[in-house]
Amino acid sequence: MTLTVKDLATPEGLQQLVESTGGPRGFYGNPQRSQGIQAVVTDAISRYPQVGQVPVKILPNLPNAFYNFDKGEILLGLVEPIGLAHELEHANSVRQEGLYRNVLRAAQGVSRINNVMALPTVLALRVFLQDPDRRDDILSTLAAISAASAAPVLLEEGQASMRALQHSPDKAQALRVLGPAFMAHLAANLKPVVTYQMGKS
Ligand SMILES: [Zn+2]
Repeated sequence: MTLTVKDLATPEGLQQLVESTGGPRGFYGNPQRSQGIQAVVTDAISRYPQVGQVPVKILPNLPNAFYNFDKGEILLGLVEPIGLAHELEHANSVRQEGLYRNVLRAAQGVSRINNVMALPTVLALRVFLQDPDRRDDILSTLAAISAASAAPVLLEEGQASMRALQHSPDKAQALRVLGPAFMAHLAANLKPVVTYQMGKS
């Protein structure tokens, strides 16, 4: 089911969120959580009115939330309200400048490919390229490209979390959710860099 951000500020929209994720006994059936979602959305719209138009696809089987930089939509699974606050910050920062959006979109693409391809690439180079110096050159280049593409992604993740944290009423709880999420981004983005570096002779 797809709503827009501003729908989640209304009782009807919240009702739809609750119904599509297990009803009153489900994750968002908890009134504290659904009120938290409403509060986060209302706050974001008051700061960034245009974010109200962003589509929100509700995915009841997703234990997380994402902002899709390609499609410009939020994928909302079962997350604490601060998780949605973080995605709303992404939705806003991407809206601002075309260049920034393109950089992030490209970087997200590179890191997605990298996560799948780093290890097979290292193995293939070991098999097909016998000259260790040329191999190390290529691996150094790949590591540098990975690090360069990880930087804007991590910067954007850090910024989105800092802003979400600033506006959160419960900082300790927000940190408990946002901290591990950032560490996961860090690990995912640095893993290919490490893989390429370790592939060198
Ligand atoms: Zn994020």
